[in-house]
Amino acid sequence: MRISENKIEEIRITANIVDVISEYVQLRKRGKNYIGLCPFHSEKTPSFTVSEEKQMFNCFGCHKGGNVYKFLMEYEKISFIESVQELAQKYGINIELDEESSGRQSEQEILYDINTEAARYFSNNLLNHPETEIAREYFQKRKIKPQTLRSFGLGYAFPGWDHFVNYAQERKIDLERAIALGLIGQSTDGRLYDKFPGRIIFPIFSPNGRVVAFAGRIIENKENAAKYLNSPESLIYIKGRILYGLSHAKDEIRKLDKAILVEGYMDLISLHQSGIKNVVAVSGTALTEEQVQLLSRYTKNVVLLFDADTAGIKASMRSIELLLKKDMEIKIASLPAGEDPDSFVNNYGREKFEEVIKKAQNFLEYQSAYFESKGMFDDPSKTAEAIRELVKPVSIINDELKRSLLIKTIAKKFNLREKLLENELDKAIQSAGKQITNEERIKNKELIKKNVETKLQNDKKISPRILRLEKEIIKLLFEGNKEVVEYISSRIPIEDFSAEAHTKIAELVYNACNNNEEIIAGSLIEKINNEELQLFIRDLIFDKYSISRNWEDIYPGLPHEKILQKISVDTVKRYLVEKINYIIKINLKLIESTEDENERFELMKLISNLEKEKMKVKQETNLES
Ligand SMILES: [Zn+2]
Repeated sequence: MRISENKIEEIRITANIVDVISEYVQLRKRGKNYIGLCPFHSEKTPSFTVSEEKQMFNCFGCHKGGNVYKFLMEYEKISFIESVQELAQKYGINIELDEESSGRQSEQEILYDINTEAARYFSNNLLNHPETEIAREYFQKRKIKPQTLRSFGLGYAFPGWDHFVNYAQERKIDLERAIALGLIGQSTDGRLYDKFPGRIIFPIFSPNGRVVAFAGRIIENKENAAKYLNSPESLIYIKGRILYGLSHAKDEIRKLDKAILVEGYMDLISLHQSGIKNVVAVSGTALTEEQVQLLSRYTKNVVLLFDADTAGIKASMRSIELLLKKDMEIKIASLPAGEDPDSFVNNYGREKFEEVIKKAQNFLEYQSAYFESKGMFDDPSKTAEAIRELVKPVSIINDELKRSLLIKTIAKKFNLREKLLENELDKAIQSAGKQITNEERIKNKELIKKNVETKLQNDKKISPRILRLEKEIIKLLFEGNKEVVEYISSRIPIEDFSAEAHTKIAELVYNACNNNEEIIAGSLIEKINNEELQLFIRDLIFDKYSISRNWEDIYPGLPHEKILQKISVDTVKRYLVEKINYIIKINLKLIESTEDENERFELMKLISNLEKEKMKVKQETNLES
């Protein structure tokens, strides 16, 4: 569907950004603007600002910002068109006319339509086809009623290799797109085949109830066949951003102000059928930050109900941290051994299940019970470790009062001095603080990589100065000095070398060093099968590329090892500075060429971080081991 520019502008003007955002964020007036707690990152003092005058929002903390559409897209994780539609509907603006007059669909809409048609086909197979008794039996055995099958759009794909392909061809479904959506596969000789043959089909819905992907579960256990097969990510499906069942559960979650998080599709479907409808499933992936963000739109109260096996416990522990970071209230419910939510609710019914949920423990009780069961409190050395583990999640909580209450709980439970725990907590908070900058560093790194790659695609040339210094560093790696190799490897990760040959050589030497092998060029070179690369190393070692031939002259009287170390520090420093300058230059160019305010801002932030990093590099003087 295409909506005209005029219409988009009309809707934007009608929908006052302050009104719209006020429905999601508590805003109060400050001067000309409105401020509130940012919904996109956790904070205690408001840095989220809305300007009525400019009809824009901006967060000074996480740097998200834009107009009213951008807000809805970010907040509800929906597409631009969906955000326009949502506001049009809300303000009673008719956009149907445009739809008819233009007749053009967006790529997303076309993909949704293909998935919807496929879902109908699979569902029809399951419900109405005489030859699909096996699939219906499967659901009968699991006590799923026909009405539930319909409500979740469950289906079945025929065994064989081209049932769906034929159907798609008959219905003139675009095959390229069906391939992109993972409904159809294509072999190297060009033959098309069905991707889900012989599988039960679970359509996966967006929060708005559109089919974005499919999961196929095998009915008969076959060797070499995965139990579940999922659609690949596509324009309309990003795995970590979807919670299975949310479109069915969101109203009830809001109503009860509580969500139950389970692991599997069938768990969710059985619970829903028995009347417990505030359930979502992570299904397939570990819980992601984006899923938590999505869920936090509907409630802050989550009960984790994962399987009682080791994998389930691990998944719970991991999820706890993510949920705490988003200020969620977490409880953990446990089922008797050998039961999963699906079996439990079928065996014991809704009331018993609700008792289990009522008895859910807070995460500290849960974790300490787990450590207790592992015998960690019987052994003093392990007790210390257990306490550190218990304090770690507490450090993630933003609310200081809540933190100190939890610390008191732990202290009481294990008969410990509070002061001791507070010290542990301080340590954990500090290292959590470090983690945030690490995250930012990773983000910067990705951005840099992207920008440098784009630049290299355009002119295929790496700066000759960088290459020359890199060669010098590679040469130093072959000097047979372990400290030097350790130093260089700590400053320059393998993937940071610009030339492929350098990457390969660095990897070889770093590995040798890690394995405590002697770093001798002659033996290392044996491990290289590539003759060209061997030659390259030889040339390098025999001084062909050297720019610092007269080391001994520069530092007269110093022992060779010391000179080598000085040279290494100096060369690495020059290399890093050169590289940072190069990256800054690329990003400055990008700033000039971009029109996007947000992007420009991101780039400026990146450059300022790079300048800081450069200062840090320049101040480094010693070779530390
Ligand atoms: Zn923010």
